[in-house]
Amino acid sequence: MDIAHYAEMAVLLVNTEDPGRGRDRLTSLDDLRAFLGPQRSLWCNRATAADVEELRAVRARLRVVFEKAAAGDESSAVDQLNTLLTDYPVSPQISGHDDHDWHLHMSDRAPTVASGYAANASMGLAMQMTTVGVNRLGVCQAPPCRDVYIDVSTNRSRRYCSDRCATRANVAAYRARRREQAAAQV
Ligand SMILES: [Zn+2]
Ligand SMILES: [Zn+2]
Repeated sequence: MDIAHYAEMAVLLVNTEDPGRGRDRLTSLDDLRAFLGPQRSLWCNRATAADVEELRAVRARLRVVFEKAAAGDESSAVDQLNTLLTDYPVSPQISGHDDHDWHLHMSDRAPTVASGYAANASMGLAMQMTTVGVNRLGVCQAPPCRDVYIDVSTNRSRRYCSDRCATRANVAAYRARRREQAAAQV
């Protein structure tokens, strides 16, 4: 099983919301199917409106894990994730479907799409953050973006969710310096 892949499910879910810009890409069943399509296409047909509501609640709880960790409050981040692990337990099963080698599925017996997704994402995030460190969870430092990420860079230098936000932040910093220089010359 690929821990980073499962942990990424948590990142992807949290980032369906863009609170800094007031956007939300998970408000309807169509949204949920579009979200699941690229990563969990087999779940699309089983998804219901109730899954949308439940995943929105899980998303809010997962965001707290990232926000607390990014603020340096590791024990609150851990407590928060532990409650998710309790509410959405995994039910591992070894599977060997299609052309894949034997591998672990975390939640084939989960009763709903939302509970299966939540179990996968919570377990993946738990394993990833206990491997790389709770302080590797971050929130993008380029406002208004509030996207979350897991920093797996070797020098622990990541501050942005994406190259696009890093570029935007650099341009903003450059312009601010120019303004300061211009003001100093007056
Ligand atoms: Zn599989
Ligand atoms: Zn960003």
